[in-house]
Amino acid sequence: MTNSKLSDYAKKRDFEKTPEPAGEPAAAAPPADAPIFVVQKHDASRLHYDFRLQIGDTMPSWAVPKGPSMNPADKRLAVHVEDHPIDYASFEGTIPEAEYGGGTVMVWDFGTVTFKAEGKTPQEWLDEGLLEFELHGQKLKGKWKLIHTKMGGSDKNWLLMKRKDEFATDRDILKDEPNSAKTGRTLEEIAKGSET
Ligand code: MN
Repeated sequence: MTNSKLSDYAKKRDFEKTPEPAGEPAAAAPPADAPIFVVQKHDASRLHYDFRLQIGDTMPSWAVPKGPSMNPADKRLAVHVEDHPIDYASFEGTIPEAEYGGGTVMVWDFGTVTFKAEGKTPQEWLDEGLLEFELHGQKLKGKWKLIHTKMGGSDKNWLLMKRKDEFATDRDILKDEPNSAKTGRTLEEIAKGSET
C-alpha cells in the first residue's frame, strides 16, 4: 500500500479476513483510457449504494442511502467516504459480517465517466465541492452532478443529482433494474456465492 490516498481504506480493513481488494499499486492500473465509475449495491447493516468515480489513481467514493435517481427533481444525499482502489470497481461478493462493511456487494452499474473539463481538473473540482460529469454506464447515462452541501451539519454531505437531458426520466431504475450489471445476479445469488 504505497498510495497515501488509500490509507483510510486500508486502515478500516483486514485483508486476511475480507475478500475485498487490498489496492496493491500493480493491480490499480486503470483498465481503460477513460476514467471509470461504479455503483455498488451494498447490503450492509442498511442497504445503500456506493458511488465511485475514478479521479487519477483512486476512486473518491460516496455512500448514497437512497441510491441514484434518473429524475432531475430528486436530490439524493451522498455521504463522502474514504477513497477506494480502482480495482474495487469489479468487486462483487460478500464481506464477512464481523468485518468493516460486512454484507453483500453487487456491481449494480459500471462504465466510463467524462468530467466537465472547463477551468479546473477533476481533482480541483472535487476539492471545490462541485463535480459535473457524464456517465456512460449500462444503466446510468447522461449528465449528473455532485455538490458539497452544509446540510445536516456534516462536512461529509454531498447531493447527487441527475441533470436535465434526454436520459432524464421519472422511471424508478433501482426497482426496474435491481440486478448486477456485471453478472446479472441478484443480491441473494451473490450472497449464496452462486455463479452465473
Ligand atoms: Mn458501502
